[in-house]
Amino acid sequence: MVINFEENFEIKKLTSFKIGGSIARAYFPESEDDFVAVLKQEPDAVVLGNISNVLISDSGYSGAVVLTSKMNKIEINGTRVSAQCGVKGQKLAQEAARAGLAGLEFMIGFPGAVGGEVYMNASANGQAISDNFLKARCYSRERGVFELTKEEMHFGYRTSVCQEKGIKVLSAEFELEPMDAEKVNARMQSCLEFRRSHQPLLSLPNCGSIFKNPPGNSAGKLLDECGVKGLKQGGVEVWENHANFIVNSNGGSSLDVLELMLKMRDAVKEKFGINLEPEIIFLGGNNKREDELCKMLYQKMQK
Ligand SMILES: Cc1cc2nc3c(=O)[nH]c(=O)nc-3n(C[C@H](O)[C@H](O)[C@H](O)COP(=O)(O)OP(=O)(O)OC[C@H]3O[C@@H](n4cnc5c(N)ncnc54)[C@H](O)[C@@H]3O)c2cc1C
Repeated sequence: MVINFEENFEIKKLTSFKIGGSIARAYFPESEDDFVAVLKQEPDAVVLGNISNVLISDSGYSGAVVLTSKMNKIEINGTRVSAQCGVKGQKLAQEAARAGLAGLEFMIGFPGAVGGEVYMNASANGQAISDNFLKARCYSRERGVFELTKEEMHFGYRTSVCQEKGIKVLSAEFELEPMDAEKVNARMQSCLEFRRSHQPLLSLPNCGSIFKNPPGNSAGKLLDECGVKGLKQGGVEVWENHANFIVNSNGGSSLDVLELMLKMRDAVKEKFGINLEPEIIFLGGNNKREDELCKMLYQKMQK
C-alpha cells in the first residue's frame, strides 16, 4: 500500500487562519484502509480536516499529521447519507439539498469537514451535527475499527467522546428528513445570509469563534463589554464587528494570536471574574513562549 506522504510539509496555505509552519510528516490517505494503516504506523498522529478550528504554530510541529481531504466520498440511500471524514460540510449540505433531504443546512456556512465537525459537534443557526447523526465508523488504538451510535458519542456543546478518548472519525452516517429541494435551498440561503452579517468571510483569514460560550452567557458579548474590538497584536486583531473573532489582517503569527487571546481572556476575567475557555485548538510544541501562553490559556496542554 503506497500512501501519499510528505516530509517537512508547509501547511500555512491550507489553514483558515493562513498561519502555520512545517509539519515533520504529513499523510494524505485516500481510503479507510489507508487511514487505518497510517494510524497503526503513527499511533500519535494528529488528524486534521479542513483546519478551520486549529491554530498551527509558525515554528511547526515535529510529529505526524494525517490530512483527510482526500477521503471525500458521499453515499445517499433514501434518507440515509453517509460521508467520509474529509467531505467538506458545505458540499455535504449541497448534495443533501439536491437529493431533497433536510437537516444539514447549517453546514453551508462554515469551512469544516465531516470528521472535524463530528469531533467538535459543530452547530449553527439552531442546528447541530448531532441532531441527525446516526452512527460513525471510528478508529482507536485500543479498539481498532468500530462503530459509535449517537448515544455513545456523548455529544455536548463543542464536545464528543472522541475528544476524551483520542478516537478518530473515519466516516459518519445521518438520517435526514425528506423535503422539497427548493425549501432546503432556501433554508441554506438564510443560514448564509445570517453568517454574512455576523461573521468575517474567509477572505479575512480567521478560525471561527476563539472562545466557547460560558454556561448561560455569550463570549462575544462579554468580550465586547470589555472593549476589545479592534485590539491589535502584531499582524492580528480582534474583528471590529464581533469581539469573539481574531482576524489575521496583516500576515500575523501564531504567537500574535496566542498573545492576543491571553489579553482577551484576562480582560473578561478581570471585569467579570469569568475564565473563558478557548474553542480553537493549538498544535505546536517548538516555541517556548507559545508553550507558556498555552499553559495559561488551556487547562489541558494541547499537542
Ligand atoms: C469562518 C468560520 C466560521 C465558523 N463557524 C462555526 C460555526 O458556526 N459553528 C461551529 O461549530 N464551528 C464553526 N467554525 C469552526 C470550525 O469550522 C468547526 O469547528 C469545524 O467543526 C472544524 O472542522 P475542520 O474539519 O476544519 O476541523 P479541524 O480544524 O481540521 O480540526 C478540529 C479538531 O477536530 C479534530 N479532527 C479533525 N478531523 C478529525 C477526524 N477525522 N477524526 C478525529 N478528529 C478529527 C482535529 O484533530 C482537531 O482537534 C468556524 C470556522 C471558521 C473559520
